[in-house]
Amino acid sequence: MKTLRIKEKSIFELGGEGKRGIDLPEPEGLAPAAIRGSAARAEAPDVPDLSEVEVVRHFTRLSKLNYGVDDGFYPLGSCTMKHNPKINEVVASLDGFKWAHPMLPYGMVQGSLKAMKMLEKALNEITGMDGCSLQPAAGAHGELTGVMMIRAYLEKKGNPRSIILIPDSAHGTNPASSAFSGYQVKEVASDESGCVDLNALANVLDENVAGMMLTNPNTLGIFEKNIRKIADMLHEKGALLYMDGANMNAMMGKARPGELGVDVMHLNLHKTFSTPHGGGGPGSGPVCFRKHMDPFQPAPVVDGDGGSYKLDWNRPDSIGKIHGFYGNFLVTLKALAYILSLGGDGLEKASEDAVLAANYVRASLKGVYHIPFDAPTLHEVIFNDKLQEEFGVSTLDIAKRLIDYGIHPPTIYFPLIVHGALMVEPTESESKEEIDYFIQIMKKIAEEAKESPKLLHEAPHDTPVRRLDETKAARNPLLRYGGGKNDG
Ligand SMILES: *Cc1c(COP(=O)(O)O)cnc(C)c1O
Repeated sequence: MKTLRIKEKSIFELGGEGKRGIDLPEPEGLAPAAIRGSAARAEAPDVPDLSEVEVVRHFTRLSKLNYGVDDGFYPLGSCTMKHNPKINEVVASLDGFKWAHPMLPYGMVQGSLKAMKMLEKALNEITGMDGCSLQPAAGAHGELTGVMMIRAYLEKKGNPRSIILIPDSAHGTNPASSAFSGYQVKEVASDESGCVDLNALANVLDENVAGMMLTNPNTLGIFEKNIRKIADMLHEKGALLYMDGANMNAMMGKARPGELGVDVMHLNLHKTFSTPHGGGGPGSGPVCFRKHMDPFQPAPVVDGDGGSYKLDWNRPDSIGKIHGFYGNFLVTLKALAYILSLGGDGLEKASEDAVLAANYVRASLKGVYHIPFDAPTLHEVIFNDKLQEEFGVSTLDIAKRLIDYGIHPPTIYFPLIVHGALMVEPTESESKEEIDYFIQIMKKIAEEAKESPKLLHEAPHDTPVRRLDETKAARNPLLRYGGGKNDG
């Protein structure tokens, strides 16, 4: 894509002496000296001088260096970078929603409260759960909320316990959320099919275990076929099952976690339900739960049906508030617009098409790139660099070369249990032509790996910045023009 290839100087290099964007009149009746005193600067600030048109063009050009779902294919596995329908934005910008202040009296925000209740009900219907809180601001925040609810539930029973079990195929936020909630994390191995090893689970499961966090489909894109059994094993020991539902895009209308024995879970509205993410806006990670977890959900709770809505603060067993006001309200509205515009059948079709697209990529690239787990996958597919190893080409080289062809690279080196992983999630949004182009380019890169590995080692060739030293970039970032050793 052309936009990835623009070179743009920094604004300090563009600035020049004597240029101006605007001429301010001399202040009348107030001598400049009168506003100086101790508030005055000793020197003029070191900001570049430019005309208005230069500023506008500079930032417009910079904005074109960006790449988003509105630019092209964005197959970032585990992130569900689907299209964000523009009708969602229209709904979220309706005056009654946009200007609603969270401290208005209930009588003035009945519509907003009703919309929140509608979304809660829709999410319960999709997940097979009994209750839902829209407060968490992201997936990881939903996890934290869910684990806090597990702790509160067990504490009420007399003992919060000390351990959360996490499979080695889990998303990295799961152990972090558990540790943040004061739990010790114990890993459970996967078996050769990529699912939780039930013997390994039985070996670590005892009365110290508070619960298990299961990503489903897991980060290999594989549905945990034993989830009902896992839930039964946990419940037998008085432990609870948390499901990381960020990947619900694979299951909508097909399977309901509430019916699979899950006690509490989160959803990523900014993945499955099409609200922007990745710099496109704040997220939202509602938590859905079964009835026995209800007393512990965050307060306040939207209350009232049919008639008049209000917020119920009288929740003595609640974990309390976990977000300012009621979560990212306008984001939740976008998800509601998405759900209502697709309807139940549309959501099911979205999941089917997402799974179809991933499996089309899988079948088309099988043999060209190695597939480490050969179990059937759902919404995403994982390859690695095993077949390219003999030419000295790695996953990083392949990802960087994709940029030369205008394609955003997939997620790489994740999940950690796959060596050199390339994790591709096309989503249901992409046309067959777009996916075919990706497949064609991936095949071409596999040829290049054989014939001219150097071309790949040095990719990307065509971008304003070439191959970065990513370790150095993270450890020694230069955040200010002129602020580091590599000035200029
Ligand atoms: C994205 C993701 C998360 C984290 O969600 P955030 O909104 O980034 O906090 C957790 N689990 C899985 C499986 C995910 O894909």
